[in-house]
Amino acid sequence: MEEQCLFCKIVKGDIPAEKIYEDDLLIAFRDIEPQAPFHFLLVPRQHIRSTLDLTASNDALLGRIFQVANKIARDFGFAEDGFRVVNNCNEGGGQCVWHIHFHLLGGRQMNWPPG
Ligand code: 5GP
Ligand code: ZN
Repeated sequence: MEEQCLFCKIVKGDIPAEKIYEDDLLIAFRDIEPQAPFHFLLVPRQHIRSTLDLTASNDALLGRIFQVANKIARDFGFAEDGFRVVNNCNEGGGQCVWHIHFHLLGGRQMNWPPG
């Protein structure tokens, strides 16, 4: 728990979010500024600043992220149409919140290259 971290506060319940999933390792909630009909954030309970701070001790967490992304995509009915899982790392990667998270986007055609 980082005192000033937005996502730590959401994990703790101090700031509200539209939570759609939680387990012992992570929570998922709707992005406040959705970029697709379905736009969820998968957020580890543990405060990890960015992808660069991951270690082998986080391997189970990373496996869980994709299992949960699949489950949510299936539960919300956009799995077979297709979806995107995105992690932005550091300023150049477009990271704005300094608590690692994975965007799950679906419900529309995704384009490539991304912006
Ligand atoms: P990043 O740019 O760091 O990869 O993504 C941060 C995401 O967090 C953005 O998509 C932004 O809309 C979302 N976000 C920022 N503040 C809040 C908030 O208070 N609540 C929710 N639900 N999402 C937020
Ligand atoms: Zn945090």
